[in-house]
Amino acid sequence: MDKEIEKIKVLIIGSGPAGYTAAIYASRAGLSPVMYTGVQPGGQLTITNDVENYPGYPDGVMGPQMMEDFRKQAERFGTDVRYGVVTDIDAGNRPFKVTVDEGKTLLAETVIISTGASAKWLGIESETRLNGKGVSACAVCDGFFFRGKDVAIVGGGDTACEEASYLANICNKVYMLVRRDELRASQIMQNRVMKNPKIEILWNHETVEVLGDEEVSGAKVKDRITGEEKDLAVEAFFVAIGHQPNTAIFENQIDMDENGYILTQPDSTKTNVPGVFACGDAQDHEYRQAVTAAGTGCMAALDAERFLTSQE
Ligand code: NAP
Repeated sequence: MDKEIEKIKVLIIGSGPAGYTAAIYASRAGLSPVMYTGVQPGGQLTITNDVENYPGYPDGVMGPQMMEDFRKQAERFGTDVRYGVVTDIDAGNRPFKVTVDEGKTLLAETVIISTGASAKWLGIESETRLNGKGVSACAVCDGFFFRGKDVAIVGGGDTACEEASYLANICNKVYMLVRRDELRASQIMQNRVMKNPKIEILWNHETVEVLGDEEVSGAKVKDRITGEEKDLAVEAFFVAIGHQPNTAIFENQIDMDENGYILTQPDSTKTNVPGVFACGDAQDHEYRQAVTAAGTGCMAALDAERFLTSQE
């Protein structure tokens, strides 16, 4: 006889601030949530160093430590945190049939998607080696550590322009490395960076290497037209070439925008599928902060609880 399939009231997919906050609320509401952590338990914050902008930590906290605190708090109230990856979901029928690690099957009455997003990287060796040592994909998180310094940022979209402007407020000088001879960003953002005397745009430039042994000391860049190479003396190297939401398994099942961000109804975490809720960076390309992710995680748990009550 087949082993009975496990049934879960609230399944949380992903273990960043959104997922853990949903877990804390859902477990305190007596919903016995099960969380699958995904491939990067703790999410993007586990590759950050100091977090100084999360309320409640007056002296700052290391990203991995903060996620450890989130996990302990969720487990304290009974969240079943499991190391595994949800590899498939059938959102067509409720309870939703979910596959974990391409093997185990379970049934979930509600699903909270908190799979987050991943920053896109250039893919060069020095960028990986110096990640967290001056290389960062988040100016709002890490810019403060380089106040008064010279820094570089790669990218020509709205994010790069926004982050370059943010950095220009706190840093001495910002080199903006743009691979073409034009920006992709909206006109208003373009005007903002072009008018800012602290931002120097290096058109048609690509990064050959981020320089430094233990921490960033510069960037070797190349003019793609002339082939000329030069070293920029910078202490931080920001990459702002876009993010990729981790939502591939929900394609063709849950409504998304053209970039793969899950669409939620206004002022709620409801998706187009009743019983499936989305929170954090998987549905937010605008704010992308730990604290905003946590806020929507709370909303998702409350929405799931109300949904379950309405079904009784
Ligand atoms: P994006 O619009 O996709 O822009 C990515 C930028 O990075 C482009 O300039 C691209 O160059 C460049 N790039 C990509 N790969 C690169 C590589 N390997 N090396 C060097 N440069 C590379 O991404 P985004 O700026 O993160 O914006 C994402 C979405 O969010 C957009 O729809 C944007 O409008 C929106 N957004 C809006 C706001 C706002 O309204 N306040 C703020 C942030 C984001 P190419 O142009 O040559 O491809």
